[in-house]
Amino acid sequence: MQEYIPHRKCVGCEKIRPKYQLLRIVKNNDGIFIDEKQKLPGRGAYLCKNKECLQLAKKKKGLERSLKVAIPKEFYDGVERFFDENFKKSAEVSE
Ligand SMILES: [Zn+2]
Repeated sequence: MQEYIPHRKCVGCEKIRPKYQLLRIVKNNDGIFIDEKQKLPGRGAYLCKNKECLQLAKKKKGLERSLKVAIPKEFYDGVERFFDENFKKSAEVSE
């Protein structure tokens, strides 16, 4: 039996991918956060787990457009660090 897998669009490369392969960024009343567990309330945007898409999102203002809020440079830096710290292993175990 096939399960339905929710898909979302990456705000960087604009490819549609299974949600679990993407990083959720969420905006709510407390600010903007990396939502690793994809469970925080608020408006979400999705990004492939690689820096190319982060750069693209930055360039095209994909996150801004998707979350309708200004994204400070510090936030992008934070996401980049997050990638460095968390996705070294998953990159090796690609799909
Ligand atoms: Zn992407």
